[in-house]
Amino acid sequence: MTDSAPAIDQAGGTNGDEDPCNAIPAVGSRLMPFDDALATGLGLVSRPVPMETVPLGRSIGRILAGPACTPVPMPAFDHAAMDGYALRHADLVGPGPWRLAVTGRIAAGDKPASSNVFPPGTTMRILTGAPVPGPFDTVVMQEHATRNGNDLTIARKPTKGDNIRLTGEDGAAGARIVADGTQIGIREAAALAAIGQAAIDVRRRVRIAFFSSGSELREPGETVAPGQIFDANRYTLLAALDLPWIESIDLGTVPDSPQALTHALVEASRRADMVISTGGVSVGDEDHMPKVFREAGGDIRAMKIAMKPGKPLAIGRMNNAVYLGLPGNPVAAFVGWLTIGALMARLMAGFADINPPRHYACLATPITRRPGRKEFRPARMLGRDGQGTPLVELLGASFSARIGLLCAADGLAVIPAESETMEAGTVIEFIRL
Ligand code: AMP
Ligand code: MG
Repeated sequence: MTDSAPAIDQAGGTNGDEDPCNAIPAVGSRLMPFDDALATGLGLVSRPVPMETVPLGRSIGRILAGPACTPVPMPAFDHAAMDGYALRHADLVGPGPWRLAVTGRIAAGDKPASSNVFPPGTTMRILTGAPVPGPFDTVVMQEHATRNGNDLTIARKPTKGDNIRLTGEDGAAGARIVADGTQIGIREAAALAAIGQAAIDVRRRVRIAFFSSGSELREPGETVAPGQIFDANRYTLLAALDLPWIESIDLGTVPDSPQALTHALVEASRRADMVISTGGVSVGDEDHMPKVFREAGGDIRAMKIAMKPGKPLAIGRMNNAVYLGLPGNPVAAFVGWLTIGALMARLMAGFADINPPRHYACLATPITRRPGRKEFRPARMLGRDGQGTPLVELLGASFSARIGLLCAADGLAVIPAESETMEAGTVIEFIRL
């Protein structure tokens, strides 16, 4: 799917998404294709945030700054993979069963035994994790041997090398175990601990300052007078930014006053790597954000995006911070964060791969729509088709303010900008929520 051709803004009105004026083309106003807007946002992120060193136990969820290499082979010594008996394979001559003399016992944590104390025909009791004494090359499982005092009888011949984990089989000394830009999750924490790294170089947390704008907004818990609503977007962001690699700075709810907005923007851009506002980026009388942003020294690089929801969405830079001006409609704000903001933040955080996992699904019913904007439509999963591909049903076509509909959805169906009609069975990208 491509968004290469500049789309013409066919939607009039201030917010575009559900406006009844949608039918009236806004002459000459161009929308920036979604992919260009995303590229613009990513292009503003010049480099990842600096690194810092943290103790291993505090590195979970952070982004590795530089590869983690093992200083020693993994594992560092040959050791038993099973409880059993260590022996020389060459001692099992002729037809079985074979008899060997047990001369001692070695357990995990014991010092490796020296190599000259094991005459031919002898064996050692060995437990999982114990270093395999030098002359031995095979460990026979205890289930495959019978012990009587110090006599061991082996009925079934093992293969040479059985049940020994060899030095370096999981990585030679110096080998890269975890790549630069990996988020430290369960596997990486295990690997870093296994190679003995106590201090981990990670990217410092990305500082993201955010506020919502709108004189109609009240905090949940306050009383709302007629015409007022609760501020949903600040909680969208509070939840979205609650990640171990982000330090979020909540600057509250700001009324539609140029002075208050200027203050919030300037403060945010001083304190953060990324500034996010919601509301006020459209073209209504009370949509002050773009003007205020520019007057405060900000540079806006994208303003009207060929996406649905979220057409009024600003991307820019102020001082050393990148800026994302999300629309006020709650679903549009959510989608703008998810599809553009989150990728910018991940790039800043030093992720090697900023893209979320891709999923695909089949449309359960055909759709007809007006082309021009890449659409992220709430959709519900209906099981799978004969090939095992998930089937999705699109939910309401007008949804930029319908947070209830978003909660009922399993994900967002991605409809390419140019698509007008799509048959049932068409495979589309599906963003799981
Ligand atoms: P705006 O983008 O400021 O023109 O707002 C578009 C619509 O979203 C209006 O109906 C606003 O009342 C609503 N809205 C703006 N901000 C929020 C918010 N933080 N939470 C819930 N709704 C909002
Ligand atoms: Mg507003």
